[in-house]
Amino acid sequence: MDKKSLSIKGIIFDIDGVLEFQGKVYDGAIETINSLRDKGIVLRFLTNSTLKSRKSCADKLKKRGFRIFEDEVITASYATALYLKKLNPESCWVMLEREGLNEFRNFTQDMENPEYIVVGDNRSNFDFNHLNKALRLLLKGAKLIAMSSGLVDSSMGNIELDVGSWAQMLERASGVKGVYIGKPNPYVFELALKSMNLDKNEVVMVGDQISTDIKGAKNVGIRSILLKTGEFDERDLNSDIKPDFIFDSIRDIPKIL
Ligand SMILES: [Mg+2]
Repeated sequence: MDKKSLSIKGIIFDIDGVLEFQGKVYDGAIETINSLRDKGIVLRFLTNSTLKSRKSCADKLKKRGFRIFEDEVITASYATALYLKKLNPESCWVMLEREGLNEFRNFTQDMENPEYIVVGDNRSNFDFNHLNKALRLLLKGAKLIAMSSGLVDSSMGNIELDVGSWAQMLERASGVKGVYIGKPNPYVFELALKSMNLDKNEVVMVGDQISTDIKGAKNVGIRSILLKTGEFDERDLNSDIKPDFIFDSIRDIPKIL
């Protein structure tokens, strides 16, 4: 693609596997973000993490040396809370731990008869009693929303079951169809785009995963860059879903400007 035809004014970055991975910031990531910001590029950070709120996510990145602001961050928990707000629920049971839960503080929580069961990363609270309780509530008529569709995640070090695995188990057992909010759902990309005030052809998505970052960008009609970092696997290159660019690291991003 001719880079002159790109005229990129905004970039949506995935976080895990792009800026950092398993607790370590990638070489050049901080400098790259700073230089893009100094050039006036509008930045957004779109993550399928549910444990973090926008604020805790931005705070964590700031501690690591990034100049990143809360209103530039969209976590799957924040996006799900916005989605839920539109549904104006009577009550919900948010199965989630840590700061991500702050995004849901304005909803009525009800573990006994919720209108919605909202599944995030509930860590060790995904136990026999809680999961069976959720199953029974779904069979009684509760609706199911999952904060992301990812099946496994290794961003914390060891591979572990991700939100989509737990939600799909509940979906299959109950027969209640779930809505899955995080990437690749176009909803979160539209949310980012809307907040950027840019045309789709002025924005590019940068991620390390075909199944979420690149697929989602394609679905919504924005260009994408696949980085060979984080969860990237050489076999991804055989996928039918093709990114517009493939780079070795975040340091290569300024090449497209
Ligand atoms: Mg990633």
